[in-house]
Amino acid sequence: MNDKLTRRQLIAGGLASLAAPAGGQTDRSTLFREVSLVDGTGAPPRPANVLVTGDRIARVTAPSRERVPSWARVVEGRGRVLTPGFIDLHTHGDPLKSPYDGFLAMGVTSITLGVDGSGPGTSEELDTADWRRAVSRAPLDTNVALLVGHGTIRHAAGIPDSVRRPDATQLQRLAAALEAEFRAGIFGLSYGLEYVPGIYTEAAEHRALGAVVARHDGVVMSHMRSEDDDAIEASIDELIASAGQARAHISHLKVVYGHGAARAQALLEFLAAKRRQGIDLTADEYPYEAGFTGIAILFPEWALPPTDYAAILRERRPELSDYLERRMTRRGGPGALLIGTGTHAGKTLAQVAQEAGRHYVDVLIDLGPEGAQGAHFTMDKALQDILLVDPHVAFSTDGGPGQRHPRGAGTYAKLIEDYVVRDSKLTLQDMIRKATSYPARILRLGDRGTIRPGAKADLLLFDPARVRARATYVDPFAKAEGFDLVMVNGRAAYANGSKVGRSGALLRAR
Ligand SMILES: [Zn+2]
Repeated sequence: MNDKLTRRQLIAGGLASLAAPAGGQTDRSTLFREVSLVDGTGAPPRPANVLVTGDRIARVTAPSRERVPSWARVVEGRGRVLTPGFIDLHTHGDPLKSPYDGFLAMGVTSITLGVDGSGPGTSEELDTADWRRAVSRAPLDTNVALLVGHGTIRHAAGIPDSVRRPDATQLQRLAAALEAEFRAGIFGLSYGLEYVPGIYTEAAEHRALGAVVARHDGVVMSHMRSEDDDAIEASIDELIASAGQARAHISHLKVVYGHGAARAQALLEFLAAKRRQGIDLTADEYPYEAGFTGIAILFPEWALPPTDYAAILRERRPELSDYLERRMTRRGGPGALLIGTGTHAGKTLAQVAQEAGRHYVDVLIDLGPEGAQGAHFTMDKALQDILLVDPHVAFSTDGGPGQRHPRGAGTYAKLIEDYVVRDSKLTLQDMIRKATSYPARILRLGDRGTIRPGAKADLLLFDPARVRARATYVDPFAKAEGFDLVMVNGRAAYANGSKVGRSGALLRAR
């Protein structure tokens, strides 16, 4: 195959032809010629040629010095940037059940599952080992890095949710369950301390597990006890104590009902002071002002499972009503909750109540803590944006396929479209670093997140000015546009608006 023919074929056949292996005298190879290279380290763009052979980057050279190998497919840069694929540090869903097309379309080449204290992939029928075996054999849209949920290993160790202080034997079983997960290749432990059973658990248990995580150089990622304005610093202190010698990471950093730039600066200074003490403390964040979670988060602990909810309604309904009304008022009222599941999906709590002619608190009580999930508009953009651009805050989606929140299909495109191109709040190279090498460092993914010889070839080719996030709260699944080629492990996965291959892999920590 000569070079001219290859180029003509590319123009005719489009980038999708990269999905098929190129036969010939060597392993399949692709030369990205005269791209603007943003290599993930934070270095500014520079002109380069990048040669991919098999699933790895073979060479990075100055364009003028490159001889085009006769057997390589050539992709012309034409002024576009080439960056590492994005690494999402906090992802929901199950690749055995749903495709991750919306993630590929916005440049995500690796996701992190097993977050918020549960999963990955566990159900009535499957334990984590069975699920992992199935995932390792399944075709995957993206690479998958795994944490294990604290609640998941608690169940595996046979500890009932109602137990607040496991005894010595139970703690041993819990530590052994976590050890087994690390031997299977997980990257760390996740907590969900606002959810059952994490909400009931205490420091001694967390410290015992932190010691196991530290031995394996893993990370402790936490959906913390509280993200409220008046409790966030205490929650961070709890996370640091629970991690012990292990690295500590704050999931989806936010200050619920906090306001303004000064509050953001104070929190960043609090985090910086911890780092000055030698604590390896990182965080991730998504660029939206609403969270998305179960409405259980609105209810008091005494009304949550395994408590008998029907008995609570008989005995403590007025008290529950007062609690919910106070909590909803603080969180912006019933207009600030957009229900995302069940028969009310797409309506705010205020709309549902008005249509039913009832008080919104009675609607909530009827739904019950496990009755719905929704988008909670409890964040201030001015505050969150200052956290978002901090160099110690990586990006994540906190999204998943089927979740009615635009973050699962829009996050990374929105970061480029709004924060880099429109508002110049981040340079392109800083945004790319926070989406690639920085999350790779947090996970200890040694061979991903930068473009350099020997690294795995997870790559994106795009023109930043043409990137569009199209997902909204009304249409949360609209795919992002503008990523011309998304390559996963050296193969085209998404090209010119279509999925063209599934070359993701289940990743193992080492
Ligand atoms: Zn969470």
